[in-house]
Amino acid sequence: MMRFSKRYLVGTFLVALASSCGGGATTSATSPDGSWQAALDAVPRGDFNRIAVELDLPLFWIDDADRDKTLDPAELSVLWGDPPARESDWVAGDAFTPAFKQAYAKIVERAQKAPSFAGLSPEETRRRTAVLRELSDGRPTLVASDLRNASAEDKAVVEHVLAAARIVEKLYQKQTGILSLASQVPSGDTASKRLFYRNQGPQCEAPATKDDPDCKAVPVALSRTSGIYPPALLKDPKFCDALAARPDGRALLEPFVVVAADEEGSMRPVPYQRAFENDMHAVSRELEAAAAAISDPNEGAMQAYLNAAAKAFRDGSWFEADEAWARMNTENSKWYLRVAPDEVYFEPCNRKGGFHVSFARIDQGSREWKEKLDPIKLDMEKALADLAGPPYAARKVAFKLPDFISVIINAGDSRSAFGATVGQSLPNFGPVANEGRGRTVAMTNFYTDADSIASQRAQAASVLCASAMETYSDEQAPQLMSTVLHEAAHNLGPAADYKVNGKDDVEIFGGPLSSTLEELKAQSAALFFADWLVERKVIDAERARRAHVHELTWAFGHISRGMYDQDKKPQPYSQLSAIQVGFLIDEGVVTWNAGEKAQNGKDQGCFSMKLDAFPAATKKLMGIVAKIKGSGDKKGAEALVAKYVDAPGAYADVRKTVTERWLREPKASFVYSVRR
Ligand SMILES: [Zn+2]
Repeated sequence: MMRFSKRYLVGTFLVALASSCGGGATTSATSPDGSWQAALDAVPRGDFNRIAVELDLPLFWIDDADRDKTLDPAELSVLWGDPPARESDWVAGDAFTPAFKQAYAKIVERAQKAPSFAGLSPEETRRRTAVLRELSDGRPTLVASDLRNASAEDKAVVEHVLAAARIVEKLYQKQTGILSLASQVPSGDTASKRLFYRNQGPQCEAPATKDDPDCKAVPVALSRTSGIYPPALLKDPKFCDALAARPDGRALLEPFVVVAADEEGSMRPVPYQRAFENDMHAVSRELEAAAAAISDPNEGAMQAYLNAAAKAFRDGSWFEADEAWARMNTENSKWYLRVAPDEVYFEPCNRKGGFHVSFARIDQGSREWKEKLDPIKLDMEKALADLAGPPYAARKVAFKLPDFISVIINAGDSRSAFGATVGQSLPNFGPVANEGRGRTVAMTNFYTDADSIASQRAQAASVLCASAMETYSDEQAPQLMSTVLHEAAHNLGPAADYKVNGKDDVEIFGGPLSSTLEELKAQSAALFFADWLVERKVIDAERARRAHVHELTWAFGHISRGMYDQDKKPQPYSQLSAIQVGFLIDEGVVTWNAGEKAQNGKDQGCFSMKLDAFPAATKKLMGIVAKIKGSGDKKGAEALVAKYVDAPGAYADVRKTVTERWLREPKASFVYSVRR
């Protein structure tokens, strides 16, 4: 059975746990000698998966496919993680192993009795309680790949890429500076160990616990860490600005170098491949081994990229690797692989690439969108250029539309505690990026499981009025269209290589604000182009309307994550969402009806939408954003943030209500299994 409405409200967590055994499970899992007696129906599926996380077991009950409420070997997934788990340790043929039976007994025990913190200090008890709360705010959500029928060659490639991914995770933790803290997790404290792994660090990230000083995976005081900047620098909250203002600021803030300081405090850039030499060589060797495993002539492009990436991990030739990477496409490989330092969001200055692996299979579903949009992409650029006005002028854009991919694993910077990136344009730097020759992908296999669909509908129904819910769709199609348009728009209008008076957007707006603006541009374009495509009869109006309702709920989801992170750094998607929702309220497209119940029939007050007014409003918003970026109008950008993000009052009140309702549903916390 799917457990649609299981909610672990913060503060009632232990109550919920206690009541879940109120039914009085009469089975006992083990006798004192550990022999196997239990029926495998002692713990409902949702509880099994939650407790497996608390106990740091690499196990996930996929689905009660035969609806007998009993866990069968075929319904169990063994998760990819650290250390790597092997399926054969838990399931042998169609039977469970003794190790699994012991683990199940522990899960039953935990389901019947809340963990005891007897003998621990009050401080440590508070910490461990907070850690459990943090974990329970994420519903483990499986991304499963089955490669059992793959060729021996493909299996060898996968094995080496997974091995590289594990080293990349370590590299990423060196970049964030948290790797050395891992040994501080108390032994036997499985929940903290899992938290450290899931969040890639000791910090809590769930909205309800991220600001709780007790919530952390280690019983020591946390301070800001970084493996990229000297510790002395981190004490200054404005150190990014100070670095940028130095004569050598540009060199120090290059994307693929760490800032090293000598004893006198004089700073110099050190390339990643020297700063993290051993780990990078180890990644390089795995990638070379993956390349060497390929003999299939149809995978020449993948092989070339693996070799180029292996070289870059040794000598920093990232831009050369990008060339090989950009030559891969949906026609010449069944794989999608990116292994490189890419996104900059993870670090305080938003300048340096974070190491990650995104490994996926190609999903051929993107062809429909390629056929629709390829012929009109110059018109799309012209539409944005017209809205931006001078000094921006339409360019000859040469972007490729998103390829759809079905993710096998995300590792390092692309593996998040909660949620997952569903669209990405890379690279961010260098000739391939600047000449629009990069690759854009949309991930099609996140949030498509029944648990996620039900959870998303419940969230929407708690905030939207019945009239708006009529246009809400469980289908993935509206989301995919928006992702396609959002990602395409990163290549349109004033983009990464655009300069005003010789300055690029990071130099004009600063790192964090330029990230917010670029995402605001892309997401406003996703709204704007949906209606633009209706005008051109590329899609029908109903499709655009469903996309608009979906995009509003997307914005609510990001609003619920908070406007700033723990370090008070702006969260670009959250801020763009606040700007869009505030703007749509101003334009009368979205209206809060205090007197009406939400569609779920429980919550008082809900949003209705005037869908017919959407096209004019989103065109206006697109114009404002395109003008700000096109003219380098920092004041205009700051005014948007001041009004819709930072000001107290009506917008903030609306966000608070949305956030409260949204956060009742646990967030998807993706876990990966690769059967092979
Ligand atoms: Zn984006």
